[in-house]
Amino acid sequence: MSSIFQGLKPSLLWKHFEQILKIPHCSTNERALGDYIISTAERLNLSWKRDRVGNVVVEKKASAGQTEAETVILQGHMDMVCEKNSDVAHDFAKDAIKAEVKGEWVQAKGTTLGSDNGIGLAASLAVMEDGSLVHGPLEFLFTVDEETGLTGANKIESGFLKGKKLLNLDSEEEGAFTIGCSGGADSEISFPLKRKKQSGQELYRLKIHGLRGGHSGLDINQGRANAIKLLARMLWQALKKFSFELVRMEGGNKRNAIPREAWADLLLEPDQIQDLSIFLQKDFEKIQFEYKAVEKEAKFSLEKSDGQEEGPLTPESQASLVNFLFSLPHGVIAMHPEIKELVETSTNLAIIHTLQDHAQIICSNRSSVASSLEATRNAITALCELGKAKVNQLEGYPGWTPNLHSPLLKTLKEVYKRTFQKEPEVVAVHAGLECGIIGEKFPGMDMVSFGPTIEHPHSPEERVHIGSVEKFWKFLAAVLSELAA
Ligand SMILES: [Zn+2]
Repeated sequence: MSSIFQGLKPSLLWKHFEQILKIPHCSTNERALGDYIISTAERLNLSWKRDRVGNVVVEKKASAGQTEAETVILQGHMDMVCEKNSDVAHDFAKDAIKAEVKGEWVQAKGTTLGSDNGIGLAASLAVMEDGSLVHGPLEFLFTVDEETGLTGANKIESGFLKGKKLLNLDSEEEGAFTIGCSGGADSEISFPLKRKKQSGQELYRLKIHGLRGGHSGLDINQGRANAIKLLARMLWQALKKFSFELVRMEGGNKRNAIPREAWADLLLEPDQIQDLSIFLQKDFEKIQFEYKAVEKEAKFSLEKSDGQEEGPLTPESQASLVNFLFSLPHGVIAMHPEIKELVETSTNLAIIHTLQDHAQIICSNRSSVASSLEATRNAITALCELGKAKVNQLEGYPGWTPNLHSPLLKTLKEVYKRTFQKEPEVVAVHAGLECGIIGEKFPGMDMVSFGPTIEHPHSPEERVHIGSVEKFWKFLAAVLSELAA
């Protein structure tokens, strides 16, 4: 049978990737793909084990003469993000992904391709199968459900791996080594509200909208505005000149997104509306000027509203809520002192939702340094103490603190330079990765992540660069050989 990947190199890797495309494997539905990995291991006479949640480990003995070498772990996640264009008929639970070669790239037809992390898995399977490689003892770790909850990594038991060096194959830029990620944890705040009787004024809605939002980690250093922060700022300023009464406030809807919209319902004397509108307009023009490079669609409106059931906040309660929101931190707290452009610590004021007697406020905090994450959360707790609010600091996930002096990194850099006559880039990401969790479970694990070039992962535009896959493989083979020496 002819393959769509005919002629692509390395053929063993592409052969396994083609098989992976035929097996549905959206997050939490990785069983069949695990079975394929196990059947491959059995065909090759390699031992394997599968844990309770479905993570699989395959072991391969060292190639001849390399038995003294240290064990190296190759790791990737089995699940893929399943997204398709609305005009595409595709059932991710049973249909094979239809891929095609388009110039220098492989892409799916209207769906995600699953090259994240399918190419990494295919590379592991190819290393399992290839008898010509030089390597020490190997462990291949295939985890479940990275994309929606890092569940597989979270549930690995401490005895599941023997190796102390791990190559994670889930990076998306050939020539860049990832050596760190942020840990994260949310702060859930319950801010007490006091209300009074209705006062019979008219209800207006002040709304901020049209902001870009984005990922609370990856986009936090893009200079984007936070709708809740802007709303709090405008209310705080307006309260110095006008006497309105706050009834409700809403903003943001996802913990891991920068809020794009927020609004507040205010009770006003009708004769105030014109002056307040002019005041807010002038204020907003300054904000638009501040954000002119990034928030071109930012808008505000002040319009009649309805549906008021609860009474407005008391003047004290309203002032303390607005003060609290205006002072809560949002954005980058610290940049990494050594790794260029890496955000080390940040916080996202993600959600506000007012109820009868309290407001729910959620901040998502991230840092690659555990103590810095804790300090950020403590600062939020301190503000809560000032504002007499309760805070629930949820348990989060651990970061992976970049180690620029890692012996594994040193070896990989040398091998890369020798193989391609070029310096690799060393990066870290301000988001959670499996390595953060694995590093915490297996203290002393030396880890580096790399992979081929994948563009637009998690979207139907996802594509993997064919030439970069060949380079990725060549590098992987050279690294395994070097680590066995
Ligand atoms: Zn991935």
